[in-house]
Amino acid sequence: MNDVFPVSPPRAWAEINLGALKRNLAVAREACAGELMAVVKAGAYGHGLEEIVKALAAEKIAFFGVANVGEARRIRNAGVETRIYLLGATWSQERAEIVARDWTPCISSLAEAEQFHLLAAAHNKRLKVHLAVDTGMGRGGFVADHLAETLAQLEKFENLEIEGIGSHLPSADEDVEFTLKQFSRFRAIVNELGGTEKFKWIHLSNSAGLLGYEQGLCNLSRPGLMLYGISPLPSFQEKLETVMILKSRVTLVRTLPAGHGISYGRQFVTTKPTRVATVGIGYGDGYPRCVSGKGADVWIRGQRYPIIGRVTMDQMMVDVTANEEITEGDEVEIFGPNIPVTEIAEKAETIAWEIFTGITPRVTRLYQME
Ligand SMILES: *Cc1c(COP(=O)(O)O)cnc(C)c1O
Repeated sequence: MNDVFPVSPPRAWAEINLGALKRNLAVAREACAGELMAVVKAGAYGHGLEEIVKALAAEKIAFFGVANVGEARRIRNAGVETRIYLLGATWSQERAEIVARDWTPCISSLAEAEQFHLLAAAHNKRLKVHLAVDTGMGRGGFVADHLAETLAQLEKFENLEIEGIGSHLPSADEDVEFTLKQFSRFRAIVNELGGTEKFKWIHLSNSAGLLGYEQGLCNLSRPGLMLYGISPLPSFQEKLETVMILKSRVTLVRTLPAGHGISYGRQFVTTKPTRVATVGIGYGDGYPRCVSGKGADVWIRGQRYPIIGRVTMDQMMVDVTANEEITEGDEVEIFGPNIPVTEIAEKAETIAWEIFTGITPRVTRLYQME
């Protein structure tokens, strides 16, 4: 269709700094003493699965942690051969592929273990699996009673190799006391099951667990969010670098008189003549609409300016009365080093994880190595 007219530049884009990603990985590596499973589920938290795994593939990572088989396939199709760990329960129908391609599942029930065993037997192989233990997350794993018995039963499946043991922290960024108890409970479990000799991989920590706690006998960590530059524990934020800057441009600037409504529902009405910049990003790009009216800012020409009225699907309005120089085409930082994504998340009453994964495919991802 379009070989005559120029391709229009994107109205909203995300600049993703792979150098910062690698430096954040180095921070994780320093904290963990052992090895790393880089968590890249949900398109590497919205940063683009293929590009992120390619950037990290050369960094000596023990595993990539994914949510499902589709993500695992995309990693292989990108030509990356790092081991893949499935962080959650798998469908029965997916297991043949998992076995055939030597991906590593975590095991939460004897029934799934048996199916993996039978499939591995049919391939004449031993599939490496990890024993998942529920020490408080309530989402997966064997509930931590009678685990010795469970392990004994799992060990009867001779086409499985119980290579690792893992558990997950629900409140490492909210409840230190509970998390410390979880660490000691997990240690007691590992010891009860035969100690560190028994498992090649022992893992419990997500980003918050890794940054905020002694790792004890764990020799593998599963950081996600911190790799993308955000610390779930604010006190460690300064150790990390921004990876994604979400940007847009001013598409229009007008001065509206006092008493003029702005955007749907006219929730904002000017009280004085107001220079209003229209910016080319909205909730159709993943900027949360519920932030409307909560006092969120954007960053233009080195200053903050408030969003006024409701965020619409493709556009939002910003009060730029304070700066007469702002003009059509000016770059706008929606979040990044000057407007922390955590600030937007707070105003949206959610978490940075959700803001990142909510950035839609319409937003062009541009990769840089700085
Ligand atoms: C998503 C996830 C992680 C990563 O968590 P972050 O808080 O993003 O570091 C680690 N482990 C499991 C099991 C997960 O599901």
